[in-house]
Amino acid sequence: MPGILLGTKHLLSTKHLFAFALRSLALLALIVIAWPARAAVVLLYHHVSDSPPKSTSISPQAFEAQMDYLAQKNFKVVPLTTLVEHLRTGTALPDRTVAITFDDSYASVYESAYPRLKKRGWPFTFFVNTDSVGTSSVFVTWAQLREMANNGVTIANHSSTHGHLPRRKAAESEEEYRQRIRNDIENAQQKIIKEIGSAPQMFAYPFGEYDADVQQIVKKMGYVAFGQQSGPLYEKGDLQAVPRFPFGGSFTALDDFAMKVNTLPLPVRAINFYKNKQEQSDSLIMRAGDKPWLVLDITERNSPQKINCFATGQGAIHVETIDKKIWVQAKGALTPGRTRYNCTAPSGEKGRFFWYTQQWLVTDKNGNWTYQD
Ligand SMILES: [Zn+2]
Repeated sequence: MPGILLGTKHLLSTKHLFAFALRSLALLALIVIAWPARAAVVLLYHHVSDSPPKSTSISPQAFEAQMDYLAQKNFKVVPLTTLVEHLRTGTALPDRTVAITFDDSYASVYESAYPRLKKRGWPFTFFVNTDSVGTSSVFVTWAQLREMANNGVTIANHSSTHGHLPRRKAAESEEEYRQRIRNDIENAQQKIIKEIGSAPQMFAYPFGEYDADVQQIVKKMGYVAFGQQSGPLYEKGDLQAVPRFPFGGSFTALDDFAMKVNTLPLPVRAINFYKNKQEQSDSLIMRAGDKPWLVLDITERNSPQKINCFATGQGAIHVETIDKKIWVQAKGALTPGRTRYNCTAPSGEKGRFFWYTQQWLVTDKNGNWTYQD
């Protein structure tokens, strides 16, 4: 304690006052540093298995190692619904909070992940595409899902058919399109309620694909919706584009996992897209050959000094600051598929980075969808 509070033995000298001010400042600095660190991350897995498909699988051993890391570093594992509550109402979370999620109804979640998480007493959410449940040995059964639900697992909506939601069918009117998407989601919700007893208002986009129209449909239906673009939760972020960090395929290494679960949200006040530096766009759908600009308006107080951005398959890409906004553009033309711009910056806290990801869906030059998974 500073001298001024210790009675007659310590006289109130300029030296003491100076020391007191210094300590107060140090404490204030600590609070400021600690403040943005109430970060939460949603983990996304598909298969937990040594067998294919390799692109989305993590071996049970690598999964176990990641869970061990969370335990050793005292991460708090909470149900996804707790994080949704945080996003909706601003309830405080302890720093280093994670929620664990799985997509796609695979039996390996029941066989490999569930026993491991149950042993630790950790909750998780399983997003199931309901048309696939119980159709082959690759997928879970409703009885297995009920057993998991009875043991604290949340079963949630990943659509009925697992289609590419932003894609229109030939000769489909706008209203027919919207009704088809609503049915695809609502049928899955009703099926889960019928089989399990309840379902939260949470939705995971198949393939992590959404555009503004899909987001609006889902929002009107009352869902908080999760993508597959990476990044930590941001309390001022879009409730119909909640990021998750996918692990599997080439992303299973422990050092990569450790870096990602420790990320902090880049404090983005506004996001804009431009086709070129003059023409603003409101679309998340691009055509092959496009090189869209992502413009990030970052809140002044936390403005990081050095932002690096990367695009899928392109490595580091162009970043410049114009009128205090960060303009980001791919180096090369986008090609059909899902392209993401990942932007990171040192947070000032050792080993922790700010992170923001933007995703685009890219058609061919004529606006046709040419990629599948
Ligand atoms: Zn899926």
